[in-house]
Amino acid sequence: MARKASEKPAAKAPKTAPEKAEVKLQEAAAALTAEVKAEEKKAKAPAKRVSKPKAPKQEAPKAEKSEPKAEKPEPKAEKPEPKAEKPVKEAKPKAKKEAKPAQKKEEKTVESKPETKLEPQAAKVEQPQPAPKAEAAPAKKKILFVTSEAAPYVKTGGLGEVAAALPKALVRKGYDVRVVLPLYFNIPGEFRRTMQYLGCCYVSLAWRYQYCGVFTHMYDGVRYYFIDNEYYFKRNGLYGHYDDAERFAYFSRAVLEALPIMDFKPDIIHCNDWQTGLTPVYLDTYYRGSDFCRTSRTVFTIHNIEFQGKYGEDIIGDIVGLPGDRRSLVTYQGCANFMKGGIECANRVTTVSPTYAKEILDPYYSFGLQDILNARRYKLSGIVNGIDNERNDPATDKALFKNYDKTTVSEKYLNKTGLQQLLGLPVKPSVAMIGMVGRLTEQKGLDLIRSVFDDILAKGIQMVVLGTGDWKYESMLKDMQRKYPEKLRAIINFSSDMASKIYAAADMFLMPSKFEPCGLSQMIAMRYGTAPIVRETGGLKDTVVPYNGSTGQGNGFTFYSYNAHDMLYAIERAVGLYYDYKDDWKKLIANAMNADFSWDRISEQYVELYDRL
Ligand code: ADP
Repeated sequence: MARKASEKPAAKAPKTAPEKAEVKLQEAAAALTAEVKAEEKKAKAPAKRVSKPKAPKQEAPKAEKSEPKAEKPEPKAEKPEPKAEKPVKEAKPKAKKEAKPAQKKEEKTVESKPETKLEPQAAKVEQPQPAPKAEAAPAKKKILFVTSEAAPYVKTGGLGEVAAALPKALVRKGYDVRVVLPLYFNIPGEFRRTMQYLGCCYVSLAWRYQYCGVFTHMYDGVRYYFIDNEYYFKRNGLYGHYDDAERFAYFSRAVLEALPIMDFKPDIIHCNDWQTGLTPVYLDTYYRGSDFCRTSRTVFTIHNIEFQGKYGEDIIGDIVGLPGDRRSLVTYQGCANFMKGGIECANRVTTVSPTYAKEILDPYYSFGLQDILNARRYKLSGIVNGIDNERNDPATDKALFKNYDKTTVSEKYLNKTGLQQLLGLPVKPSVAMIGMVGRLTEQKGLDLIRSVFDDILAKGIQMVVLGTGDWKYESMLKDMQRKYPEKLRAIINFSSDMASKIYAAADMFLMPSKFEPCGLSQMIAMRYGTAPIVRETGGLKDTVVPYNGSTGQGNGFTFYSYNAHDMLYAIERAVGLYYDYKDDWKKLIANAMNADFSWDRISEQYVELYDRL
């Protein structure tokens, strides 16, 4: 699939038998009539609907691109640029002209390659969409969710989870929500093989003019679109490349350029994190004349303000490609800052918990963005994330040694003994086990743990830590495991299977974050009947209520200051309750398991937000 991406658009006009088949399927479902129109439109729009000849597979160029510094930015860069990167090298300016004559070879185009094979499967995927309660849909707003990752295609953290679960919850409520993300090389073949190619267009980026293929796929009732350009996305890993500024500036603009190919006119364009921060900027600068987004309103959600997309100011002219009077929108404290662009131009700015929305107005939490956020606080709010209760269910999770639910939580200990055996820890069903799953970074409070690690492990407990991250924390954990082989296991790895086992096996889940925009792990832990021990910051404060023995209320343990001994004291309270107050412990666990963090409930707050726009 990705191979197709960088192939040259051969300018053929598509219109195919498979498409007709799809139309038939969709006729049965009233809610999908829009798609039918989309297909028809594409057929009429040959220039976009070019099929790509099986050009010899093009390698993502390493770094051939040289970036002429002093090129003047071309807001509408129509002209082909000889320096443009490989994938684009192909056809560029000719593409549009070739498209028309090629129009007649429609069958050939659509039948070509992946589409022929994929159509039946794609149809299969689409069919089960029992027209998401389409009767009510027309009145509801149409939402395009723009994200740099989404489970199950690609996920590196909380954003990927949210980008899957929120759209799914909204679709179930009858909203027409579509998700768009880059077509990364990392997306498993099982998905790429069943995607459908919709068409292509070209995206101006300063002096560049870049190819943009558009693929689509259905999953969990949600329609996903994938922006395809092998030069930018056929690489290992999602982030951390030398040219991330260019990759995500491209993506942010390609999303808008591709709307006619998607045949989607969103009422709301919901952007997420710095990788999509330029979308509202481009929308206001270049696309307000487009029929597809003339009246679109925008939401920009900050999932973690630590990562802002900050670069040298020179990239605004050389890469972002904004006219002079618009450049200040993405300039902040002498740098280009993509997140600032999103904050400036979006109609609403949200973050992922109400407490974090307040915290980021303060320099301690804002990573320098407090000034712009305070200036724009009238449009800032926080909505706590939810979790996907279907994917995080101890009753059905296949990774567990023993499944259980609220009524059979007494059997949860079998997961502890199973994990102890698996990891070579002493098998003791009654010992208090503390679990940790997460990135091993300063944000997650590893410095606090390091300061009092010996004291924690002296508490008559076992501890299991799963994560990857900074070398200094990884080696600290390995050192401590060598020192305490009977008490500690540090698994330096990313494994969803092991994460599930730990959530289920542990009695307590430690999350002493320095800051935490929302945090999903503490909610997953509670769902698995594991008591969270957290610092009162961001979403941790909004989701964990300290247990009160006299009222029997509360679902975990908390401490306020970023202080190692305050954390140690919270651990002592938890371990004390676990060993000495069994009835209270049961109440606490019942409270944790009864807490409702479902997206079904939480998505209502997004509905209200969208409706107010
Ligand atoms: P963040 O987004 O800051 O990394 P969150 O708590 O919001 O933290 O989300 C982290 C998600 O990633 C959780 O679902 C957690 O279980 C999962 N996760 C983190 N590290 C690992 C790991 N090493 N292996 C498996 N899952 C992990």
